[in-house]
Amino acid sequence: MPNYICVTCGTQFANSASPPAHCPICEDERQYIGANGQQWTTLAALQQDHHNLIKGHEPGLTGIGTEPKFAIGQRGLLLQTPHGNLLWDCITLIDGETIAAVQALGGIAAIAISHPHYYSCMVEWSHAFGGAPIYLHVGDREWVMRPDASIVFWEGATKPLWDGLTLIHCGGHFEGGSVCHWPQGAAGRGTLLTGDILQVVQDRRYVSFMRSYPNLIPLPATAIRQIVQAVEPFTFDRIYGAWWETIIPTNAKAGVHRSAERYIRAITGSLA
Ligand SMILES: [Zn+2]
Ligand SMILES: [Zn+2]
Repeated sequence: MPNYICVTCGTQFANSASPPAHCPICEDERQYIGANGQQWTTLAALQQDHHNLIKGHEPGLTGIGTEPKFAIGQRGLLLQTPHGNLLWDCITLIDGETIAAVQALGGIAAIAISHPHYYSCMVEWSHAFGGAPIYLHVGDREWVMRPDASIVFWEGATKPLWDGLTLIHCGGHFEGGSVCHWPQGAAGRGTLLTGDILQVVQDRRYVSFMRSYPNLIPLPATAIRQIVQAVEPFTFDRIYGAWWETIIPTNAKAGVHRSAERYIRAITGSLA
């Protein structure tokens, strides 16, 4: 029985004889059903006409993204550290070429994902790399569409991994929304991998924070303050968002402060 994949969000479901009746992730107010209605594919079909681009961002950090664009279009990040590699955020497509390229970079010791929009084919990725544990914040447990023994739910404010890597619970966009701190990144000035929990915007100096990006639903000031407080104890100069171009190369922490102040001014009616 195939594991069907939702074409709009890229999430793979538990195996079933026929396509699932619904995609709860797309029916949620944070996503949407495409104009042509709910559509499904499979990994085998996706492998026929898509491939992955694998490209370094900086020493120790490699992006993995699918071409042509599929579903939400995020790219994952393979983070290399002395005691093993972390795949931060995940993508739907995995194939033999990708597995060989990732093996050449040291494989995957664990997977951690910012929020359910990037759960994608996480179980396929884990199984391809020896059942690597998948760390998900327990706040988003209900959004796992393909349960698996490799999934490890963590709770609380932070989860330290290895070599100084830390998962940080922020909430906001999703109840379990999380980011990853990589202290050695940006030549030791520190890096935050944020998915779209802190969304790097077009000017690459600011971030934004939304309950829904496609449907443009903002977050309340309390949620913005919670996100800023969560990352405040960590040193970082650079932010990598969920897409190839969404990077704040330097002064990112000051950018987060400026962004939060601007956002709260905008939603509390004092923009001028
Ligand atoms: Zn979906
Ligand atoms: Zn999202």
